[in-house]
Amino acid sequence: MRLVRYHQREKEQFGVLKGNGIVCLPRLARRLNVKLPEQLEQLIISGLKGMETAERLLENASEEDVKTASLPLNRARLLAPVASPTKIVCLGLNYRDHAAEQNASIPDEPVIFMKPRTTIIGPHEDIVKPSFVKQLDYEAELAIVVGRKAKNISAKEAKPYIFGYMILNDVSARDIQFKDRQWTRGKSFDTFAPTGPCITTENQLKDTSNLSVRTWVNNQLRQNSTTKNMVFDVCETIHHLSRVMTLEPCDIIATGTPAGVGFAMKPQPRFLRSGDTVRIEIEKIGILENSVVEREGTF
Ligand code: MG
Repeated sequence: MRLVRYHQREKEQFGVLKGNGIVCLPRLARRLNVKLPEQLEQLIISGLKGMETAERLLENASEEDVKTASLPLNRARLLAPVASPTKIVCLGLNYRDHAAEQNASIPDEPVIFMKPRTTIIGPHEDIVKPSFVKQLDYEAELAIVVGRKAKNISAKEAKPYIFGYMILNDVSARDIQFKDRQWTRGKSFDTFAPTGPCITTENQLKDTSNLSVRTWVNNQLRQNSTTKNMVFDVCETIHHLSRVMTLEPCDIIATGTPAGVGFAMKPQPRFLRSGDTVRIEIEKIGILENSVVEREGTF
């Protein structure tokens, strides 16, 4: 399933992408008298049982049922699939090509940092660049949505702990990141984590070892890589993180970005400016697009 959270007439809903439309799952469940959570985060928390109920619901629904519970995609405003994760954990330097473009060595264990959940925005929401941020940059990343509580999990056991995958843009203020010599402040501004457009569930996207990851800024292709350049794959990532912290349902893990970020461009860096549009496409997930607006900020 490719699951989306959306507003229709200012009411929050969630559903499954189907062709050019969305099948509203709670609406379909009510029509067929099936018990299903009313919100996507509740569905994730309800675990395997919730997923199976949703899948059975779609299998058993007639064409008429599906039609009645559907709406065209252009009538919905897509929202960030997970609005309130307990945490967002990010990997740094997790692509060989990205490490190479900045002459950094490849880490022997994942380098991790965190972003606050107040960074999250959804598709087509604006990335706000405070005027004092001079070097705004993008980072296209495959993001894991955790489905089950995980602690001390081996890489081999990791798959069932993954609910699904979405795109996350790890927006970064490079001037602040490099001045601080660590990542927290430069990556924690409100709106610095666009996510979406959907969660492709793990059972639909079993193999994440070679997905194309591409980023355009105003239609110019900037990042053009694949997840096969990742240093630690999704299962190894779950393993390493779960040795440190308990992972919980709805946690988001951003797995790092490939080569082609603005600060590493030759002959000179190119940073994002007000009015720019960043479009990220990850194979089998979709397209996430956000524009940049500049606002006065005090420092
Ligand atoms: Mg990143």
